[in-house]
Amino acid sequence: MKITSVEARVLVWPPMTPAFWMSLLPVNRPHELVVLIHTDDGLTGIGHSDQASSIFNVGSDGKPKLASASRIVPDLISPLLVGEDPASVEQLWQKVFGLTYRHHWNREGWSRSSMLSALAAVDMALWDLRGKAAGLPVFRLLGGNEAAVPMYVAGGYYREGKGLAELAAESAQYREHGYKALKMRVGGMSVEEDVERVAVVREAVGPDVKLMLDANEAYDSNTAIKVAPLYEPYGIFWFEEPVAWYEGNDGLKRVAEETGISVAGGEQAATHWEAEAMARDSGISYMEFDCMRTGGPTEWLRVADACRRIGVHMAPHHGAHIHAHLVSAAPNGLMVEAFPDPFMYDSAEQLEFVRWDRKREMFSAHPEVRDGMMCMSEQPGWGIEMDPEVIGKREVLE
Ligand SMILES: [Mg+2]
Repeated sequence: MKITSVEARVLVWPPMTPAFWMSLLPVNRPHELVVLIHTDDGLTGIGHSDQASSIFNVGSDGKPKLASASRIVPDLISPLLVGEDPASVEQLWQKVFGLTYRHHWNREGWSRSSMLSALAAVDMALWDLRGKAAGLPVFRLLGGNEAAVPMYVAGGYYREGKGLAELAAESAQYREHGYKALKMRVGGMSVEEDVERVAVVREAVGPDVKLMLDANEAYDSNTAIKVAPLYEPYGIFWFEEPVAWYEGNDGLKRVAEETGISVAGGEQAATHWEAEAMARDSGISYMEFDCMRTGGPTEWLRVADACRRIGVHMAPHHGAHIHAHLVSAAPNGLMVEAFPDPFMYDSAEQLEFVRWDRKREMFSAHPEVRDGMMCMSEQPGWGIEMDPEVIGKREVLE
């Protein structure tokens, strides 16, 4: 089989109104870089990445316009892949990755992180082809046996007008819909207010639901060490990104050593080298490497193997429909992150669900969430199909 062409599509959704917030930053306008790899066998591999920088800008007319990084796939990557056998996933990964340390890679304003995001989508499309050529879903191709993977809900965001009663109602709904683990934000309010929020959520979900805290790097290590014992009585499964970016692995290590809560991190690690160094040096117990933000599934599998050797579990950030395949196959795979189905909820308070809803509309086939589990089909590849009508509606062409 040979690659005959590589297509890139940029999809952008309207801004979310009203906005909702992580601990320090608003959640971005949803967008996707979609890569379609076509072959002479008639098979098409699908990949997409949602974290690339410089993919689009907003023009003075308020409409999205293509930005510099949207040229990476057609101008740089496509010529490297056409004519190659898509089964050579590792070699093709290396070929594309090599762009990040060649001359002139930034000549058009392309950033290294944009190139790694484009690589993520390309590598994902190659794995889709590999599964389709073998007639197997990717998780079975990788030796996975479980078609259903546990999910945790990413909820408990900050939003204007959202009080403790709304937070409690939101949390209770998750439990009613079968989720057995819930993550909420801390670090965006005073410590006293956040401790009260955590207490309210624990009360709402009961003692048996795993409860995780995500500080999105809002504390310095001294503060994280001081606040952790205040959260600890509420049975916290992990404390995610507790420390500001500038303290790096040393700051995480202090928190891991000096508090009683396990630490999670790695959603921003750019490469397997960075993720492995973090797993080795920071004392984290849960690695959240996101193969759709950077590097692709090939890179994720390397991270998972390095983490397996030192007893660190894999709980990847975002992209549950893809990461579920990898978690199913990895011996240290734990769970994937859920943004629940908005149609199950009738309250305007649950605006966080809009994100998954908007993106989900681009698929005419995708894995289903049932009873707190991501359930994969036996469809070869990732089990996703793009809806051409939605691509037509959301695509930015110039
Ligand atoms: Mg996080």
